[in-house]
Amino acid sequence: MVPNDNVISAGSAMRQRAIELIEAKPSHGAVPTHTNGESTASAPRAVAPSGAKPRTAERAYGGVDGHLREHTISGVERLAVVVAVGLPVLGVLAAIVLTWGWGVQPVHIALLVGGYLATGLGITIGYHRLFTHKSFSTGPVITALLAILGSMATEGRVIRWVGTHRMHHQFSDDHDDPHSPTHHGGGALGVLKGLWFAHMGWIFKSDPAEGFERYTPDLSKSRLLRTIDRLFPLWVALGLVIPGLIAWAVTGTVVGGLLGVLWGGLVRTFVVHHVTWSINSVCHVWGARPYDSHDESRNNVLFGFVGMGEGWHNNHHAFPTSARHGLEWWQFDLSYVIIKGLSYVGLTWDVRTPGQERLDSKRT
Ligand SMILES: [Zn+2]
Ligand SMILES: [Zn+2]
Repeated sequence: MVPNDNVISAGSAMRQRAIELIEAKPSHGAVPTHTNGESTASAPRAVAPSGAKPRTAERAYGGVDGHLREHTISGVERLAVVVAVGLPVLGVLAAIVLTWGWGVQPVHIALLVGGYLATGLGITIGYHRLFTHKSFSTGPVITALLAILGSMATEGRVIRWVGTHRMHHQFSDDHDDPHSPTHHGGGALGVLKGLWFAHMGWIFKSDPAEGFERYTPDLSKSRLLRTIDRLFPLWVALGLVIPGLIAWAVTGTVVGGLLGVLWGGLVRTFVVHHVTWSINSVCHVWGARPYDSHDESRNNVLFGFVGMGEGWHNNHHAFPTSARHGLEWWQFDLSYVIIKGLSYVGLTWDVRTPGQERLDSKRT
């Protein structure tokens, strides 16, 4: 069978399958759901082999000791994670020292802000709202662009990221949630341990032995996404080289170019990392819960704005297939504004949002 490149386009068989699964009500062997019937993730995922309605991965996939089986990540993989997380931290420290002594040029600030918007939107619009939740449709060019920009954020290959996030929705704040801040003990220490784990600690943990592919059959069928996924190191490298070349061209000096790598590459990656991870940590601890989502997800005003709409996280958990996370007029959602804006020029379509009846049915 010829792989379907355009899995995201309307009318494709895979998208249709995704919609069927999104709309599936709890039934024998169906996509696991919360007890209120709202599908917790939003696209094809692994189907429980037993026909049961699992709330933990072990029940779904036959893990041992009551929980998900894990496989230990290799030393090389662990080193890559340490470098990907640690190098941007060192970059920020270097930027602070250099700015203290010599100041910073406007081009480097522009590269930081522009790079944050481009790669951050690659995560929020691409990795999250399109690839994970299929909350809108688009063509292969925008699909590729979003996958590449998301990859440049250095948060992992697109298919793995989507698999992890679908698990997060499926088991949200239960034991097999890959990055829940809950269940880490009581008191202030328990909260701190939970925040650390949800923010960064989970990244160094082992993978489920079954692999994330079980959660991403739709993406794995796309030759386009498989190719972009395989070329992940190239996109990460380009995320450093491109700002360096721009800064070199603008300043006309090699030092200016290297500072472009620092600000538009490493500092930008640091900011995107920690804003994204704050959605996993802060937005499951602090904020309002206007909707019944059967987990600890919160609407956090700061990360609603800084996170380009992602911080309206309780809204998102209550309505995971909605392209719009900022559901109130005052909840600014830059990602949705762009998705909607692109629909006016025909570059996106089938933009999904919940109707008033559904909103009212889940209001707490
Ligand atoms: Zn969440
Ligand atoms: Zn999500």
